[in-house]
Amino acid sequence: MERITMNRQQIETTPAGPDLDALVAEAAKWDHNHKIRECEDGFYNYCEYCGYEPRFMEPEPGGCTGFPPYSTDIDKAWELVEERHQKREYLTLTYLMDVGPTPYYLAEFRMSKKWGEGITAPEAITRAYLLAKLEEE
Ligand SMILES: [Zn+2]
Repeated sequence: MERITMNRQQIETTPAGPDLDALVAEAAKWDHNHKIRECEDGFYNYCEYCGYEPRFMEPEPGGCTGFPPYSTDIDKAWELVEERHQKREYLTLTYLMDVGPTPYYLAEFRMSKKWGEGITAPEAITRAYLLAKLEEE
């Protein structure tokens, strides 16, 4: 079994963005398939994760070199929530407004009692997911 190389401190301190997305991609065993987006002209298309342009470039061996934006896009974060649902694990998401200078989201997976915090919901969900996965390995 492949080991996840992250630790708790990394999960809690890595800001939302590509570095946190990379941790999720590894934990979620993402398949590194490009996500090709067609432009309206029907001619130009590109991968929205890494910028790969199939018409103009040779593909990199090993697939996509970018990452899905799990920590900044609620659609992608929700895929992680759905994955946890498969394990009968449910999410509670709370927006805390009056607890300090900056409001934040608290995402909690109830069964495994793992929670993550973030300025946005996807950031909080991403951290809770990673902490739950950390425990599983
Ligand atoms: Zn790509």
